[in-house]
Amino acid sequence: MRIQLENLEGGKGDFAYTYQPEELNPVDERVNLTEPVTVKGRVRLSGNEVFVEGHVETRAQVECDRCLKPVQLPVNADFALEYITGADYASSSVAALSEEEMTVSVFDGESIDVDEIVKEQILLELPARTLCREDCKGICPECGVDLNTGECNCTPNEIDPRWAALKKFT
Ligand SMILES: [Zn+2]
Ligand SMILES: [Zn+2]
Repeated sequence: MRIQLENLEGGKGDFAYTYQPEELNPVDERVNLTEPVTVKGRVRLSGNEVFVEGHVETRAQVECDRCLKPVQLPVNADFALEYITGADYASSSVAALSEEEMTVSVFDGESIDVDEIVKEQILLELPARTLCREDCKGICPECGVDLNTGECNCTPNEIDPRWAALKKFT
């Protein structure tokens, strides 16, 4: 969904949209959506600047970093963004902009891409590291067995890599 600024009455307007997962998938190589995404917000024009604020809600599916099992995580993100056109950005004082706590993005001056905002907010909200559970044992690097549900006879994972390194010297 894109918001065309020329269609805004009085320079402002509200928006609300529900995306089906397939409209945004894949969010990136490790994030997929399995439930609809709702986004709500308002847009306000002020001179050459556009302010967009709102809320994104969904559940995202990511892979456990150790065993690759899918993990569902809730996403509840508030956002407040500021857009200016490339020409205005070049002529403005970058120092003054960075004092503000908002994220400033450059846009074409005509429309705001809500799909991009939603994807970005989902990625910002998700942790960089995800485990299906705190003590996930992961997958055996030798035979691929999920060590949470099974055992294998490969010995290398039982040796602490630090000791393995030492062993070479004896
Ligand atoms: Zn896991
Ligand atoms: Zn194994």
